[in-house]
Amino acid sequence: MIPRLYVTVDLKPGTRFAAEERAAHYLKNVMRRTPGDPLILFNTRDGEFNATIADVSKKSVEIEVTDLRRPQSSVPDVWLCFAPLKKDAVDFLVEKATELGVAAFQPVFTKHTASTRLNLERLEANAIEAAEQTERLTLPQIRAPLSLAELIQGWDPTRRIILCAEAGPVLPIGEALSGLKQDVRQTNAWGILCGPEGGFARSELDLLSKLPFVTPVGLGPRILRADTAALAALAVFQSILGDGAERPPAPLLPIGQSPA
Ligand code: SAM
Repeated sequence: MIPRLYVTVDLKPGTRFAAEERAAHYLKNVMRRTPGDPLILFNTRDGEFNATIADVSKKSVEIEVTDLRRPQSSVPDVWLCFAPLKKDAVDFLVEKATELGVAAFQPVFTKHTASTRLNLERLEANAIEAAEQTERLTLPQIRAPLSLAELIQGWDPTRRIILCAEAGPVLPIGEALSGLKQDVRQTNAWGILCGPEGGFARSELDLLSKLPFVTPVGLGPRILRADTAALAALAVFQSILGDGAERPPAPLLPIGQSPA
């Protein structure tokens, strides 16, 4: 398995640099890599590069960039606005939504939000690990938490909100998003808004559903857990309005092996 790592340095063929602490520890102590071993790097700006380990010493791991594998690309501009859940559920949500190509996480405190504590640094670390594994070339932004009122007050009305509404009048999400796809006035900026374990307050759903930039959608007859609902909505979004039609990069072949 060729390690794929997010780095912050500028990347171009011939660049040589000392790996940051996280990467150096992973390469030296976890993966026990040695000079000459291959790596894959991305930095969310310059694209994805092949690289090799140039030197491993007590103090550092030196990396040399060899050539460009894939030019930089982006993900659809879709934010996941979610009410913070219990720790494990948030970690799971961030990992899976990163795999599903979310562009940003926007924590929102609603009336029934259970946990108000969020460790944004841990969420960022989870997102980096998931982005490395899922072979995306970008990292989702982790935005500072807002109350629902602050979110709506400061919302850019050209970014349409897809509201996962467990009650009240809705269209089934597939029908709603297919309709939005036909509407040429749509910008390409989106938000998916999901409630907490305790659900939205009825007053919140009523207020949100009246906003011109909000489309309330249903996710079927069952009440989904908040993380399930967010991921289900994101998956449907990507298949109808996002990049669901695209294909993953060619599988990483070990050096010297040609495709069958
Ligand atoms: N009040 C219920 C409860 O206590 O279980 C429902 C809350 S549900 C766990 C959390 C969120 O997931 C909801 O606020 C809503 O955003 C979304 N959700 C769950 N099931 C849904 C469905 N069938 N249709 C639309 N949204 C749903």
